[in-house]
Amino acid sequence: MIISQNDIRTRFKAQGLKVTPQRAAIYKALAETTSHPTAEALFQQVAKDYPMISPNTVYYTLSTLKNVGLVKEVNYWHDRTRFDANVTPHHHLICLDCRAIFDIEDRSLNQIRQKAKIPKDFQVLSHQVEFYGYCSSCQKAQARQPSSSSRHSHIQSTRRKP
Ligand SMILES: [Zn+2]
Ligand SMILES: [Zn+2]
Repeated sequence: MIISQNDIRTRFKAQGLKVTPQRAAIYKALAETTSHPTAEALFQQVAKDYPMISPNTVYYTLSTLKNVGLVKEVNYWHDRTRFDANVTPHHHLICLDCRAIFDIEDRSLNQIRQKAKIPKDFQVLSHQVEFYGYCSSCQKAQARQPSSSSRHSHIQSTRRKP
């Protein structure tokens, strides 16, 4: 989804954030992708238009944007944090092979909280549903090489060893 400079200005202003060209470029790059990129991937993307930008600026800007609620961190593998500029309630499809993260927006999932048996003394602020599996291109790749399924079980069995 393309986001205009006006939209960026409005969103930044609403959070009391100063608009700088680099800050706006980083936010724009993240807001226009649904790939949930890492900070490194985002840096490479923004550096095409801003060769002077440093990785540190990208890290610092992402944490500023996160602190004001314009960006969310997504971390399913506890290694490299991924970032999401979609801060409206939504859920994720997560590919266990290529680690792609897809957004899924579904009202019934947003309303799951009313049906869940949550203890009355627990104050829920938010919730998110995650679906783990294989994306269509990984499924096709697996179908092309039948040995890849044994490759997965091999990886998992070696990981379980102490
Ligand atoms: Zn995949
Ligand atoms: Zn997302």
